[in-house]
Amino acid sequence: KQSSESKCVQTSCPYCGVGCGVDITVEQGKAVKLSGTPEHPANFGRLCVKGTNLLATNHHQGRLLHPVVNGEQTSWEKAIETVAARFSQIIKEHGPDAVAFYGSGQLLTEDYYVANKLMKGYIGSANIDTNSRLCMSSAVSGYKRAFGEDLVPCSYQDLENTDLILLTGSNAAWTHPVLFQRMEKAKAVNPKLQIFAIDPRRTASAELADFHLPIKPGTDAALFNGLLNFLADNRGLDQAYIDQYTNNFSACLDQAGQWTLTKTADYCNISKSSLKRLYQAFLTNKRVINFFSQGINQSSSGADKCNAIINCHLASGKIGKPGCGPFSITGQPNAMGGREVGGLSNLLAAHMDIDNPEHRALVQNFWQSPTIASAPGYKATDLFDKMNQGKVKAVWIMATNPAVSLPDRAKVEQALANCDFVVVSDCVASNDTLAFAEVKLPASSWSEKNGTVTNSERRISRQRGLLTPPGEALDDWQIISRVAKAMGFDQGFNYSGPAEIFDEHARLTACNNNGDRALDLSGLTGLTTDEYDRLKPVQWPVNTKYPLGCARILADGSFFTDNRKANFIAISPATPKLACSAGYPFSLTSGRLRDQWHTMTRTGKANILAEHTKAPEVTLNPADAQSLGVAEGEMVKVSNETGAVFLQAKLSDDVGVKQLFVPIHWNREFASSATANQLFAAIVDPVSGQPEFKQAPVQVEKT
Ligand code: SF4
Repeated sequence: KQSSESKCVQTSCPYCGVGCGVDITVEQGKAVKLSGTPEHPANFGRLCVKGTNLLATNHHQGRLLHPVVNGEQTSWEKAIETVAARFSQIIKEHGPDAVAFYGSGQLLTEDYYVANKLMKGYIGSANIDTNSRLCMSSAVSGYKRAFGEDLVPCSYQDLENTDLILLTGSNAAWTHPVLFQRMEKAKAVNPKLQIFAIDPRRTASAELADFHLPIKPGTDAALFNGLLNFLADNRGLDQAYIDQYTNNFSACLDQAGQWTLTKTADYCNISKSSLKRLYQAFLTNKRVINFFSQGINQSSSGADKCNAIINCHLASGKIGKPGCGPFSITGQPNAMGGREVGGLSNLLAAHMDIDNPEHRALVQNFWQSPTIASAPGYKATDLFDKMNQGKVKAVWIMATNPAVSLPDRAKVEQALANCDFVVVSDCVASNDTLAFAEVKLPASSWSEKNGTVTNSERRISRQRGLLTPPGEALDDWQIISRVAKAMGFDQGFNYSGPAEIFDEHARLTACNNNGDRALDLSGLTGLTTDEYDRLKPVQWPVNTKYPLGCARILADGSFFTDNRKANFIAISPATPKLACSAGYPFSLTSGRLRDQWHTMTRTGKANILAEHTKAPEVTLNPADAQSLGVAEGEMVKVSNETGAVFLQAKLSDDVGVKQLFVPIHWNREFASSATANQLFAAIVDPVSGQPEFKQAPVQVEKT
């Protein structure tokens, strides 16, 4: 849609994993109007408050405009030469595992693809991890263990064609608002649709749900073991499905069998009648979606929690059918796209496995690369530990702010200070992480760069460049390719643009794919630049079987394991690693607010978004406030052995007695003493590497 004065460009929102389509009117090089894309299948025109106010955050104030080396503005040539020379020197002296990349679910798939190719195929290390490790890696592990591949079986339309939605560890009303709006509308159309919220906190979602189960923090795996046992005891198993399509059911049920209603209710600290109401609802409704998010994933046993959920769907056959299935919702706009191209240290590109020699050979042969990483690299928290220990001597951080987002801020800052060579490419000129960078590289931002993202329902959408990047900012794929070439890797990085990178990615997914990998984009290979520019949102796989994309995977009961059957995983529920004690009697959880995003480097620019919550707060129960002598709005110190923060007290019985909630967003620019990651130790799930951000024992004192 275009006239000489104005044009309308369709792109997608850069915030959460819903992946809403956005229409932007551009006049004389400026974005002047924004609305939801009516025909985008994620949002059908809806936007939440963050998306609606995107243009208020889109000014150039605070942007990094030029390359900077050792505090001095310099040319791109000098900056690229510096990065390439230092990385090459460190690799020569200490080997490829002495360097690392740390990326972001904000990167576009094409950026991710090139970064992963450089690290795994040319440098020869798998040390590329991202902030997606903090977001989705437990769900990835759960899916891979159960289905043989990292795949989300459901679609958003399933939310409108179901009888029961379990919101498990998800405050979707704030974190994925447009999906919550779709649920509310579905409920208005079909009043029989029930929504149950399973969450220790009474969140906005729990408030609006039909039923809230405030379970004790960290007890989700027991809850779903108990459900499996209940299904077995109450003729809720689909034995034909179990026999035909799954492995290992009896061992799994043996483990779950001990979780009687009484034992589970005691363990989860809820009444038996509440628990039974949940279990009966799952048993009696034919169509059930378990919509889960960070309350499940951000745990030292997140992968097990995910599999405990999947076990119940497999056992009841409530999977692969309309309105049924386990449905993990990603936090970021492109957490899934990054995984598709191997953007985690334990993955290869195109959903291939780094531990599989045939896959390694296939990828290396496809890339015609000099090498291929032969073993998994360091996962996020591990990577920063290795920087602290001097084993990783150079790191390139792209489009993320780990000094605020990783657990144990003091340790992360120490790692950045100890690392010999820190490069940060970002669109902003200063943040908590950039303070440690020897080289700062100006990157283009949302609305300037071109590429694709994949949302929580496997839907690939275009992000389109509609504005000229300010100063000398370049796209991430361009910066990475220039560094690769300066390191002597000329062959693999002569891309003409994102369309060519996307085509290479799509061809790799199709390479020797005989239906043994669900991620198959063979139907999107060979797109011309024009066709790529006009690409409509589409759900993978896109191939001869599904030329228009696929709304629901696993419908045929065929999985991606060796024998094509799904695996039940026997789960022994574990409590959070650090328990409350006399010294640290409060249980702290963290999460998002409605109107802020990540570490506020973008949403912090819009005054209107600060209106909802003006200052960092800790929510505590009024009974606890009374014992502490704390009144609403007074400052309190929240502390433990990892660190201390100072926050305003917000009194609410939305949190239980001896429970606290803090938002994750505030960075040093907005509130230096309130960054929540100062309170979370770097405790991770041993399977997924995802940190435990939903439980930390703390003390609270009036200041
Ligand atoms: Fe953006 Fe998510 Fe809001 Fe949609 S729901 S407008 S993707 S933040």
